[in-house]
Amino acid sequence: MSIQRNLFEFAAPAPPPLTPPSGKPQRIATVQVRRQRLQELDYLVPDELRSAVSPGCRVRVPLGRSNRLVEAYCVRVEDRVADRPLKAVADVPDSRGLLDAKMLQLTRWIADYYLCEHHAVLETAVPAGVRQRAGTRPSVLLRPADGAAQQAAAMKLTAKQQAVLAALAEGPLAADELARRAGCGTGPIQKLRSLGLIAAEKTRVPTAVRPAEAPQVRQSHLQLNASQREALAAVEDALAGNPPSTILLHGVTGSGKTEVYIQAIAKVVSSGRQAIVLVPEISLTPQTVERFRSRFGEVAVLHSHLSDAERHHHWQQIARGDVAVVVGARSAVFAPTPRLGLIVLDEEHESSFKQDSAPRYHARDVALARARAEGIPLVLGSATPSLESWRSAQLGQFRLISMPHRVEARPLPHVGTIDLRLEKSASRGALSRRLAQAITAALADGGQVILLLNRRGFATHIQCPACGFALHCPHCDIALTHHRTNHTALCHYCDYQVPAPPVCPQCNFGGIRYSGVGTQKLEAEVRARFPQAAVLRMDTDSMQAPGAHSKALAAFRRGDVRILLGTQMIAKGLDFPNVTLVGVINADTALHLPDFRAAERTFQLVTQVAGRTGRGPKGGRVLVQTFSPDHPAIAAATQHDYAAFAAGELPLRQALGYPPFGSMIRIVVRGENGAAALACAEGIAQHVRASLAGAAAGIRVLGPAPAPFARLRGLHRFQIHLHGPEADALREAVAGARRSVESPDGVQWIADVDPIDML
Ligand code: ADP
Ligand code: ZN
Repeated sequence: MSIQRNLFEFAAPAPPPLTPPSGKPQRIATVQVRRQRLQELDYLVPDELRSAVSPGCRVRVPLGRSNRLVEAYCVRVEDRVADRPLKAVADVPDSRGLLDAKMLQLTRWIADYYLCEHHAVLETAVPAGVRQRAGTRPSVLLRPADGAAQQAAAMKLTAKQQAVLAALAEGPLAADELARRAGCGTGPIQKLRSLGLIAAEKTRVPTAVRPAEAPQVRQSHLQLNASQREALAAVEDALAGNPPSTILLHGVTGSGKTEVYIQAIAKVVSSGRQAIVLVPEISLTPQTVERFRSRFGEVAVLHSHLSDAERHHHWQQIARGDVAVVVGARSAVFAPTPRLGLIVLDEEHESSFKQDSAPRYHARDVALARARAEGIPLVLGSATPSLESWRSAQLGQFRLISMPHRVEARPLPHVGTIDLRLEKSASRGALSRRLAQAITAALADGGQVILLLNRRGFATHIQCPACGFALHCPHCDIALTHHRTNHTALCHYCDYQVPAPPVCPQCNFGGIRYSGVGTQKLEAEVRARFPQAAVLRMDTDSMQAPGAHSKALAAFRRGDVRILLGTQMIAKGLDFPNVTLVGVINADTALHLPDFRAAERTFQLVTQVAGRTGRGPKGGRVLVQTFSPDHPAIAAATQHDYAAFAAGELPLRQALGYPPFGSMIRIVVRGENGAAALACAEGIAQHVRASLAGAAAGIRVLGPAPAPFARLRGLHRFQIHLHGPEADALREAVAGARRSVESPDGVQWIADVDPIDML
């Protein structure tokens, strides 16, 4: 977006002449420009820019017949004979390169692997705030002109003029600051400039950025238990190792993984190197940040609520090597650390590590590629590893370290199931009798309660019992959810909303029904049944205000809130010792989605939320309400048995060739006109099938078929799935289709390599 605006900011100068090939080697910069069909372009480097133009820097280059100046990234510099006339680089906007050679290579790898434009990856790796130099303002700095000292000696200068030169001898200054230090007005300065004794240079100076919270008192490390010591030793091996390796740290919730990360990072930092810690955005809680700040002092925290200026400030700090530890969400994998020694990726199974817009990269795989390129270890941690990582460990590509017990021998909580098929008729609300009794008991005992329901809103669908009409989004293939706060019916995909209808819009029947339970309805029920207990709801609707999340967690920590209920937002990472009961309102919400990872997601969610209890001396228990207590994912979660879940699930994946067995690319074609989109999808599928015809066995191309969400935001959607043992063959086929299948106006398609979102 910024680039587009910039296009118009630069007035095009007179068209630069094409420099004809001279037969002599010339310095040529190859650059990446944002365009539809991307090609690398060559430009001559004029002599005066020789020292400034290097791989990884931004340049401005004239483009097209109008020679409008556009920003581009220099990816290569060579001295060679040009085979045709070239235009010249116009200028270099930054005072230093933005990407080093390794980062440049990494972005190239991402572009190739994820089938996206290199330019788009570069724009992702360098945050917008950095590109716009947010938080800096243009300024003119004054310095003594070359030879000013000798010249001045030969001239009769006033005392004030001498004071000005003396002040400047200490270093460049802005005019107002110079006047202040020299104790004069602007007159003497102007005079010296006109005499040629003072030169001016344009530069950018930082405006104030809110300083990071002051470093806390440094806390000392905890005494590690035996399995933590073993895990730390493995990381130390990897740090010393040649080649260094990837470690999968499979530790149950509360086994003390974070303490292992911290002590491993301490080793890295004490040897003068930097570390990057990647966590899901949702776990970037004050609690997590505080744990790192209290040990390391200078920690750069990169989250999505930073202003552009703050992001730029951190980026510069990191690039200068001024901070040793970077903690951040997905995009922190691109942190420009000059002396990286270790990458840690916590909760490695989390789907938020995958970006759902181009470039559709997965931070885990990018971290893996970066760690390999830099020759440093990568530590992946989770209580519920992704089957991809688990399989890599089984194949010996990752080193598996298990931490099967909680710290200080605290037991994992007992998990019981409540079969909703038996409960249904007896109770009308969302809470079964057993769960309600357990809440009463937990509250009476002074404990706190967490209730998980992975559905926002009040009622999850609005349907007329008389004619069967159900309220749907006119733009999406999705039922509208009733939100009671402002009495609207809301689409959770496109935010379309209408007032909730009092009567059926189709047959006018007065008894239209709001059914299904969302977090708002659960909140109302919990408040009604436990009027003395303070209740707090946490979901995207209630947590919109900045700081709401940390305020809510602080209230829960203090015990001001006794029952915390919400969506998966509350399922992860929280460590509250007084939580003695976790209730899962409906474990099946994700179980029957048309997604080959549905079982894995369900297992992860139930296991993770169960892990929120039993962290203190009072212990804890978990009650899981479900219609399918015997489902392997739910049965394994109740036993905290990851290995059993993986052992049951992997053969199913293998039988169908799903990841982690073989690769997958998902193509989604969308357009306002359904027939045009389908025709385009058929063309793509045909092309892909033809180019894969001679390829290895085991390749399947499925579709086009309507996507599970067949309409979203007014667009019809069709999907094509490619499966096969050879990722490269699939990629080549899709890249070929990109080049040769024309998509008609109004139809777009995306290719998602290693897709996570299957809807
Ligand atoms: P995980 O990341 O595996 O869920 P944490 O690192 O959050 O586990 O540890 C859980 C709790 O145990 C935290 O409160 C932490 O401070 C504490 N803890 C971790 N290691 C130790 C240890 N060696 N001795 C005592 N307490 C520990
Ligand atoms: Zn919609």
